[in-house]
Amino acid sequence: MEKIFVLTHVDESGTALAKASLEAVSAAVELAKSFSAELTIGLLGADVAQAAAQLAGAAPKVLAVTGQAFAQPRYATDAAACEALVKAAAPTIVLAPSTARFARVMAGVAHRAGGAIDTHITAVSPSLEATRWFYRQRIEAVVKRERRPWFLLLDAGTHAAYSATGAAPAVEAVAVAAPASRTTVAGTRSPQQGEQTIRPNAKLLFVAGAGWTKKQSDGQVHAADAEKLILGFLHAADASLGSSKSLVDQSGENQATLKFMTHLNQIGQTGATPRHAKGLSTCCHGEEPHVVGWRFVNERRAINLDANCGWARGKADVVYLADAFQVMAKVNELLEK
Ligand SMILES: Cc1cc2nc3c(=O)[nH]c(=O)nc-3n(C[C@H](O)[C@H](O)[C@H](O)COP(=O)(O)OP(=O)(O)OC[C@H]3O[C@@H](n4cnc5c(N)ncnc54)[C@H](O)[C@@H]3O)c2cc1C
Repeated sequence: MEKIFVLTHVDESGTALAKASLEAVSAAVELAKSFSAELTIGLLGADVAQAAAQLAGAAPKVLAVTGQAFAQPRYATDAAACEALVKAAAPTIVLAPSTARFARVMAGVAHRAGGAIDTHITAVSPSLEATRWFYRQRIEAVVKRERRPWFLLLDAGTHAAYSATGAAPAVEAVAVAAPASRTTVAGTRSPQQGEQTIRPNAKLLFVAGAGWTKKQSDGQVHAADAEKLILGFLHAADASLGSSKSLVDQSGENQATLKFMTHLNQIGQTGATPRHAKGLSTCCHGEEPHVVGWRFVNERRAINLDANCGWARGKADVVYLADAFQVMAKVNELLEK
């Protein structure tokens, strides 16, 4: 008989569960239901009262490690807390969100528990087969393991977020002595220059390509207009910003324009593969190494002056053959209204 355990942590606000955590919970609820397995949830954070309320109706048992020592992500304290939670729940299957905090620590926890781990999981079938992608999302693999406990780190954007029903569950505290640590968190330094443009939960991915920095029909470069149009759209549509390699290579720290763009925005073979319902590509040619990163963007549109661009060759659902400067100015004007 399998025993399923969802291991999760409070988000950066320090009190709530992030969408990725709630996705792991709904994946576990589904899995437990499919073969009537027992489900337990483990929480980690300074204070988990609000997070526990988000779990109402999900599982009969919620365990938690709490206290100031566990407020900040830190390998030593997170590993000790997760190890204690796993020991208390004694599961055979552990589902956890692939957050930066857990991706860093979970392989070590699996080792301490004498188990095995697989990462970047996108689905788990009722027959306990886990699916993941390899080679920049080109090969899909199905993984099955005999070893227990088996830890599965779930990629965000692959499941619906759990929504609570009923009263908050009782939380059972698991005591852990925080290990001695020489690491103290002094603050955070963001690689983004003043502007948070990467929003994994946004419905729309807006991609800017190198065309924004090229000479336009009047023979001039219009980088200041480009910056205004791109940021104006991101704010109005609450979209996430992606970019092509050509543009990030000349952005951020490397040039004076489009300072808000860094390599973290890059989408593609050597960039990210985000998950968004829709994508709008502007001033970007639609080359294969870039489009590989659009794998999980469901509805794709592009604006390009070139009728022979990659998007027009079957890579987008809709291509607008138009000047992106003019189109985005009009779109922003409509959004402002
Ligand atoms: C091994 C390898 C890995 C790579 N990995 C990646 C990766 O991860 N991500 C990535 O992005 N690239 C990657 N590349 C590079 C990729 O092949 C392309 O060179 C790059 O994506 C091109 O960027 P771009 O489309 O922004 O620029 P360009 O090719 O310069 O295209 C600019 C486009 O803007 C259009 N344009 C100009 N002005 C306007 C306007 N006013 N209105 C509308 N359209 C306009 C032009 O028609 C043109 O199509 C990789 C390449 C290799 C070899």
